[in-house]
Amino acid sequence: MDCPYCGYHDSKVIDSRGVNDGIRRRRQCLGCGSRFTTYERLQPASLFVIKKDERREEFNRNKLLTGIRKACEKRPLPTGTVDKLVDDIEAELYQMGKAEIPGAVIGDMVMERLKSLDYIAYIRFASVYREFTDITALKQEVDTLVSGEAGVSPPTSQLPLLPDEELAGIAKSHRSRK
Ligand SMILES: [Zn+2]
Repeated sequence: MDCPYCGYHDSKVIDSRGVNDGIRRRRQCLGCGSRFTTYERLQPASLFVIKKDERREEFNRNKLLTGIRKACEKRPLPTGTVDKLVDDIEAELYQMGKAEIPGAVIGDMVMERLKSLDYIAYIRFASVYREFTDITALKQEVDTLVSGEAGVSPPTSQLPLLPDEELAGIAKSHRSRK
């Protein structure tokens, strides 16, 4: 805690006492000698997930665990793998220090980890999470993965570019009309 008077980074605690929901500390700056008070309290563990329809739902570790377990069912993964995966994700989510996190962000975090962990589990999870409506969409995802081009496929909204010769033709006809 930097000194509020001079900004010095170090201080000593001269008095410490518990208050309702935390600890109150009286400090003295080691730089300028000024005294100030700090309060330390436990961060309430409330994290909300923003759903697709904008509804907020409290983050539920068990729900995440169940979803991933289902995807990893009967896969040759060491005991504890899924729990560790969920632990990692949970820790990362809280480290973000945000009160709300879009569900898609969490889904992507799971996908990212499953992809390097177990291919089948990844596809299973993706099929639920991405809500593949038909087998074609699922097959596309698989094909993309197999060809190792995941993440580099061009956005479908982009218009196809004209071939060079066609562009040249347009330029030529434009010039000749002048
Ligand atoms: Zn100071």
